[in-house]
Parts: sequence; C-alpha cells; structure tokens
Amino acid sequence: MARRKKIYEGKAKTLYEGPEPGTIVQYFKDDATAFNAEKRDVIEGKGVLNNLLSEYFMMGLNNIGVPTHFLKRLNMREQLVRACEIIPLEVVVRNYAAGSMSKRLGIDEGTQLPRPIIEYYYKDDKLGDPLITEEHIAAFGWASQQDMDDILSLALRVNDFLSGVMFGVGIRLIDFKIEIGRVYDGDFQRLVVADEISPDSCRLWDIETNQKLDKDVFRRDLGNLTDAYSEVARRLGVMPKNAATPIKPTLIN
Ligand code: UDP
Repeated sequence: MARRKKIYEGKAKTLYEGPEPGTIVQYFKDDATAFNAEKRDVIEGKGVLNNLLSEYFMMGLNNIGVPTHFLKRLNMREQLVRACEIIPLEVVVRNYAAGSMSKRLGIDEGTQLPRPIIEYYYKDDKLGDPLITEEHIAAFGWASQQDMDDILSLALRVNDFLSGVMFGVGIRLIDFKIEIGRVYDGDFQRLVVADEISPDSCRLWDIETNQKLDKDVFRRDLGNLTDAYSEVARRLGVMPKNAATPIKPTLIN
C-alpha cells in the first residue's frame, strides 16, 4: 500500500489522510492508557475489538438517523471516516454514578441517577481535561448556543440508543463519553458524532453480576481487558465467525 500521510497520533488511535479529500483513516492501536497516560500498556487485540465495536455503534446510529463521521470499515484495524473539525469538548452522559462523579460528589458507584446527567470537559491533556460549564463554553467561544442545543440532543439520542442496545444483551450502560465534530457541506455546517464509541469510552456493567466490561478493568487491574471487550463483542454478535477466543491482531500493510 502506498505510504500514507500521518495526520495525528493519539493515545489509542492514529489518523491518516484518507483516499478522497475530506476523508480520514482511523487506525486503532493496541495501546491502553489511563489517568492522563500515567498508566499505560499494550493490550493485544484491543484495537481490533474497538474498531469492530465502534463500527457497530456508529453504523447503528447512522441507521436510526443520528449523524456520525463513520463511512466504512476498511480492515480489522482501520475505518474510513469523514474529516471533521473536532469541538474541543468531551461530552459525558451518565445514567448511574461512577468514576469521577462518584468521587467528586460522594455518591456510591452504581447509584441510579434520577435522570441522565450531561457533563462537559475541556479537551486538553496538559490540563487533565477539566470539568467545565456551559458558561465557559460560551465565554471562550468553543461552541455556539445552537451547537450546544444540537450537542445535547445528539448526546441524549446516543444515550437512548446505546442504553437500549446494551440492555438487550444484558449490559447496563453506566456512562460514556463522545466527541462531536463539525462537517461542512458547502456553506452549511452540521454536527456529527465523531472519534469512537467503544468500551474504552463507556462504562459497561453486566446487569446480573455488575461485572465490569470496560476500561475500568485496565484502570483498576480487575483482570484481562481483551476478555472483557471480547465478551461485549460476543454478546453483540460482532466477533468474526468461529472466533471463540479473543481476536488476535492481524498484520496490516
Ligand atoms: N472517559 C473517556 N475519556 C476520558 C475521560 C472519560 O472516554 O478522557 C469516559 C470514561 O470511560 C467513562 C466516562 O467518560 O465512561 C466518565 O468518565 P469519568 O469522568 O468518570 O472519569 P474517569 O473516572 O474515567 O477518570
């Protein structure tokens, strides 16, 4: 394959210029990081699983009319997406208390919230992605009021979709993070769900046992991360046929 131009290398993915203008190839790495990259490891097979799972969720969203940047999966580690301008926010939706919210507000992990709660974090690794309010977003011009209305609506639709899909396979969606991109069709701008949706960016607990099937397995040393992600993929039917064991990464050119 011809050498491609690398656009950006992040913690879990590398972005390359796509074959057509306005497209990008997302390559899913096996690298896992937590606590602002203070804890890191390489988890064999994670990139393949996240590529397949993110495809599954993004396609599902596209199919119900929630716009995403996803175009198609290219191979076991890469997908083609629309180039977009990422709004510098991490949009977190919570259905149950966990993680930083439990710590900040002293609420036991797993406590059901009275309604979904949306939080915004400013995407800046150097600052450790601080929690911000809509006041900051408006004052610093990170997004307009119209954008914020659209982001809220997208976040809630993603939440309903993901919660339902996960509930169907016996998994509780505790919380998740999405990123939003701007795409331009001529002069017209619209917002799409971008980046990835995978167990790296969600909290997923088995409904019966509360077993964690997400990145907390890595953050908190609870066992084998690939096994946890494989279980999610298996339940959703996105493992390649005959893959009884975790998918091994394939060599790509
Ligand atoms: N999350 C993420 N990337 C981040 C921070 C959080 O994908 O940089 C996800 C995380 O996996 C969880 C949700 O957002 O599903 C809420 O995370 P929280 O604020 O509780 O932070 P954490 O406890 O993970 O530091």
